[in-house]
Amino acid sequence: MRVLEIASEAVPFAKTGGLADVAGALPDALAGLGCDVSLVIPAHAEALGKGLPVEPTGIEFDVPIGSRVRPARILRCPRPGGRAAVYLVANDDLFGRPTLYGGARDYPDNAERFIFFSRAAVELACRLGGPWDVLHCHDWQTGLVPAYRRLLSGAHPAVARSSTVMTIHNLAYQGLFWHWDMLLTGIDWSHFTWREMEFHGQLSLLKTGIVFADAVSTVSPTYAREIQSAPGGCGLEELLAARRDALAGIVNGIDTTAWDPGRDPHLPRPYGEADFDPGKYAARAALAARLGHVAPDARPLVAFVGRLVEQKGVSLVLEVIARLAGTGRAHFVVLGTGGAEEEHALRQAAAAFPGTVDVVIGFDEGLAHLIQAAADITLVPSRFEPCGLTQLYAQRYGSIPVVRATGGLVDTVVNATPTTIRDGSATGFVFEGFDAAGLEHGLGRALAAHADKPLWRMLVGNAMRQDWSWQASGREYLRLFERICRT
Ligand code: ADP
Repeated sequence: MRVLEIASEAVPFAKTGGLADVAGALPDALAGLGCDVSLVIPAHAEALGKGLPVEPTGIEFDVPIGSRVRPARILRCPRPGGRAAVYLVANDDLFGRPTLYGGARDYPDNAERFIFFSRAAVELACRLGGPWDVLHCHDWQTGLVPAYRRLLSGAHPAVARSSTVMTIHNLAYQGLFWHWDMLLTGIDWSHFTWREMEFHGQLSLLKTGIVFADAVSTVSPTYAREIQSAPGGCGLEELLAARRDALAGIVNGIDTTAWDPGRDPHLPRPYGEADFDPGKYAARAALAARLGHVAPDARPLVAFVGRLVEQKGVSLVLEVIARLAGTGRAHFVVLGTGGAEEEHALRQAAAAFPGTVDVVIGFDEGLAHLIQAAADITLVPSRFEPCGLTQLYAQRYGSIPVVRATGGLVDTVVNATPTTIRDGSATGFVFEGFDAAGLEHGLGRALAAHADKPLWRMLVGNAMRQDWSWQASGREYLRLFERICRT
């Protein structure tokens, strides 16, 4: 199975979100399963500034963009320990920029940048020689790849028989652009209809990918169902429902080396199930010191780590803190960055309840690890969640997640009941409605269970033993690839 993974970001080169984690880990996981895998990403300034061993390949070509051409220079990066080959598409005008997509406002030429990248990726597939079995595209930035394979390069022997897969990491981002950007694609206007590339008068790169790909996938089975109806489908629900036979849901894996409580350099005393109590206590003490407390708090520690935006249910967390902090039943710690309003409200909550509510505004990977290790309970009350990683890390660190029943949270957390705890399947607490009462009820159940030490230990053991490695997810992608290559 020869696979070309195509993404706009991938660790360790460049990252703005979970997409980069997937695009960084999946190629190696597939290679470990016997696939011949290459990854292609743009040569963002961030990727070239990391000190990674990037070298020229000698492959250069012009990419037609509207009535002109833009040069693409192909670099490669032999990573130590990496099993998949990595190619970077360089064009300094388009990718030599301080951030990946823009700042407070997107770059005005993002359509051109990713039309160029998609077309260059297909051209590179042809230049590298074939045949490729699968071109695997991630998110709107690569949405034109399936269309280019079919409409412009379909006759080339390297891709003539390739299948295309379009993976959606978050349907809220669709790559919608001015209709005149259609001219940049080189694709005939006859395809600019509601059936193919047009979405309410605009050019939609993600829709194009969904229409032209042989298979579509998203990052959890429940999210795959949710996006087939409103509001989850963000306007594409009818198209996705029509393609339901070609739509798969595959849960993301996590980096089990970076997120391993047994060897985590961010923890004062790495731990496993056997030495759970001393490990947790040491993390608690280190966190307390870091937050400026004289001693760790004996009350259950409830954490929230994530982007402080509406999607993540920050308003629910704020309401529940307001209701519970005064009762003294738990200590809350929040780490995140996001909306100015959310940050301000959280700072106010910390000021109102000193010693009970700690808030750290900022992005701090090490602190995120320490908090997961120190916490007893992690809140993930998202309005929608394509997959979610926080609840997976929390389980591995023995911090029990309290999650809303949406998207990947449904697929990765088994609600604790006396039966599911004893049969070893429970891994957290699930609540239904997106409201503070729901979250408060879920958290209340978790706090009650926490008071029953043998029961809690059983739950923690169940959570810590879950396998969220990329190997398991990689096998599912491979099965999907094998299925579409047969048809
Ligand atoms: P999303 O990709 O929608 O932000 P995920 O749960 O899939 O949500 O992944 C978010 C990841 O980013 C998690 O690993 C979380 O711990 C991490 N993260 C989010 N905010 C912060 C922060 N302020 N500091 C450190 N890590 C963070």
